[in-house]
Amino acid sequence: MKKALITIDYTRDFVADEGALTCGEPGQSIETELVQLTRSFIQSGDFVVFAIDLHEEHDRFHPETALFPRHNIRGTKGRDLYGELQTVLEENVHQDHVYQLDKTRYSAFAGTDLLLKLRERGIEELHLSGVCTDICVLHTAIDAYNIGFKLVIHEQAVASFNPTGHAWALDHFKTALGVTIH
Ligand code: ZN
Repeated sequence: MKKALITIDYTRDFVADEGALTCGEPGQSIETELVQLTRSFIQSGDFVVFAIDLHEEHDRFHPETALFPRHNIRGTKGRDLYGELQTVLEENVHQDHVYQLDKTRYSAFAGTDLLLKLRERGIEELHLSGVCTDICVLHTAIDAYNIGFKLVIHEQAVASFNPTGHAWALDHFKTALGVTIH
């Protein structure tokens, strides 16, 4: 079965201490595992997607404007990946099995061409990693489940600012979405 890794929102704004909407230490603590996982998928030639939140400086119609401080604004450093993962992206983004995807909603499928990219490659199994477990990883997992993908979530490579939400989401992945937790 062909597989892909989707690494979600591991940006400076979501992970660094000075990030605009940071999940802080829990996010920083998965860096090593996430880098290792991403490198191993790239090396094996499997499809790797870096799904990165994108917002405009002024967007009063966007639903997140009323919910969160501004984050991941186009053209800012806040959209760079945190730590070594940015290097992994820069070193590999020219390869045709590595894809940098702008997304504007929680789910990496919402309003993007992700599904087309996966279907073109005959991919049936998605591995998810990144932040936050209970927001963008969760919404991406739900969309993937509804479309019919088999799902694997790497427990050591997902994190949230909210420990209760993190634990709830991991349980929900298992009990409601049939996800294999790795
Ligand atoms: Zn956002």
